[in-house]
Amino acid sequence: MKRILVTGGAGFIGSHLCERLVNDGHDVICLDNFYSGSKENVWHLIGKPNFELVRHDVINPYWAEVDEIYNLACPASPIYYQNDPIQTTKTSVFGAYHMLGLARRTKAKILQSSTSEVYGDPNIHPQPESYWGNVNPIGLRSCYDEGKRCAETLFFDYHRLHKVRVKVIRIFNTYGPRMAISDGRVVSNFVVQALRGEDLTIYGNGQQTRSFQYVSDLIEGMIRTMATGDDFTGPVNLGNPGEFTMLELAEKVIQKIGGKSKIVFRPLPSDDPKMRRPDITLAKRELGWEPKVSLDEGLDHIIAYFRQKVLI
Ligand code: NAD
Ligand code: UDP
Repeated sequence: MKRILVTGGAGFIGSHLCERLVNDGHDVICLDNFYSGSKENVWHLIGKPNFELVRHDVINPYWAEVDEIYNLACPASPIYYQNDPIQTTKTSVFGAYHMLGLARRTKAKILQSSTSEVYGDPNIHPQPESYWGNVNPIGLRSCYDEGKRCAETLFFDYHRLHKVRVKVIRIFNTYGPRMAISDGRVVSNFVVQALRGEDLTIYGNGQQTRSFQYVSDLIEGMIRTMATGDDFTGPVNLGNPGEFTMLELAEKVIQKIGGKSKIVFRPLPSDDPKMRRPDITLAKRELGWEPKVSLDEGLDHIIAYFRQKVLI
């Protein structure tokens, strides 16, 4: 049994990770400031003897004796991270700095949840980890993209200078139950809109692509990455290579939910990446991992989840 700290543990991904770690018998501290996550996401864990929930903002230091740290604290939805962009950069950079300091002092292994956004609007397709990216440093998405890039820099400098045992994963678009209804990302938006009988809002012409990963696949990849030997640092892509246009996604959602929703087109936000698909060769080789849940199956799960929430 390990003592494990999960920052951002009350968020969408963090809550699934906490649940898995608690069920595996570990002693879990879930740290969150509830900016984009909620206590509701971890209600079912509160009261278990191996789970603690702590309100804390990672832009400030935090001390605890731990064996492993999963650093997830950071809003991931463009609406949330652009709402207070300075706080977003501070969360990524100071959060990484403080958690790395903690890992150094406690000799804990630490995993950073980085993102496919470090590739920006990519010129190479699909994206391997060796690609350095094409990121606008001064745009509306930069607080998130550059914050995450700087966090990766800190991770590798702590590794080189202080021998901290780091693991960096680059997560591609992930969806599943416990995304907030108001999250604003495309899968939850389309599903909630269709369940409410509203029109589905495609930004731009809908020809941009994303590769969607179901949350259970990601959690398995995170656990396997943390379990690798000290010589494996990543960065490693974790995503599902199935690639879809936003138009295809909208049509799938409408076909599954039915009702009177139509597709409407809205302006494309600035710097919106035109395509995104992970090269997962490294994850397959080093982790023996690949995603198992297809978009069709995953959509059925998230539709069932939101059907309860939306119709209450
Ligand atoms: P989320 O917004 O649901 O979760 C983030 C959590 O971090 C929330 O509970 C939020 O309250 C908390 N948080 C934010 N700022 C904080 C702060 N300063 N101090 C403490 N807690 C703070 O988003 P998510 O989708 O669960 O993303 C989790 C992590 O995975 C993030 O680091 C995100 O960048 C990364 N990621 C997610 C995706 C995805 O598609 N979901 C893709 C790439 C990377
Ligand atoms: N998008 C859309 N309609 C929505 C929300 C998002 O067409 O209601 C588009 C968005 O412009 C982007 C893609 O869907 O091209 C994925 O957006 P999301 O915010 O989910 O993730 P990210 O852009 O960070 O990959």
